[in-house]
Amino acid sequence: MVTIKFWGVRGSTPCANNENMGFGGNTSCVQISATHLDELLVLDCGTGIRNLGNDIIHRKEALRGHIFLTHPHWDHLQGFAFFKPFYHPDGNFNVHLTAQPGLSCNEILQGHFSNTFFPVTLDMLSAEMNCTSIVEGVYDFGDYVVEMMWGRHTIPTGMFKVIIEEKVIIYAPDNELPHDDSEDSQAFIEKFQAFIQGADVLIHDAQYNREEYEKRKGWGHTNWEKLLELTKYSQIKQLYLTHHDPDNSDAQLEQRCDQIQMEYGSAYELVTLARDEMVIELA
Ligand SMILES: [Zn+2]
Ligand SMILES: [Zn+2]
Repeated sequence: MVTIKFWGVRGSTPCANNENMGFGGNTSCVQISATHLDELLVLDCGTGIRNLGNDIIHRKEALRGHIFLTHPHWDHLQGFAFFKPFYHPDGNFNVHLTAQPGLSCNEILQGHFSNTFFPVTLDMLSAEMNCTSIVEGVYDFGDYVVEMMWGRHTIPTGMFKVIIEEKVIIYAPDNELPHDDSEDSQAFIEKFQAFIQGADVLIHDAQYNREEYEKRKGWGHTNWEKLLELTKYSQIKQLYLTHHDPDNSDAQLEQRCDQIQMEYGSAYELVTLARDEMVIELA
């Protein structure tokens, strides 16, 4: 059994408005667990990872594992310092951050923790920490395999395919699917479609609708209409739209979800919008 839990589904910045609490206000963080996996597997460290950390401490679960960061934008890193297992002497974590030009993984994290911005520095964490850069390729961790493909975003950003207990889960919270028909864009779409083909679960950026996207071209995010257009024939079993815009209320997102299920419900076994604390079980 493989379980996926969303700890943060908001894009760009956390939001704590009453009208957003149904879908949740925490930024990107997803946890994958499996029957035969006895360590943590986490995707992104948005503010949602704070609740994940508290949950692990509360359950007295293993304080070790791997954390994969799609890229170091704030909304994917802002919870890092609030993940309690990092302050536990038994903690032992490998952080895999997509390679950024001219900066090592440690330099990026140290910059994030510069004491101009925050009182805790990296060397104050009690856990054993190891940070490595990750580039496009396939990585075998024994219990699972992670394949990374570069997405299209404002800085180098990964999309992760996790293959675990024969389930294929793809996580791409920040990826702008192209609208033009240039050669580059067509080549990217072809490669993207091959990457996602037949996945059990696709978790993908759908921050905007078409109208919002027109005003934000090149910001590195996708509109839901384009996502559905490019994935509807890819035999994706379950599609979860994520990285919701902080200015989108529950009412707007509910309406979007209804519309998508009405128009595209038959193209997937399940298509829906991700919410904080939503759990997917793959038997
Ligand atoms: Zn983001
Ligand atoms: Zn980003």
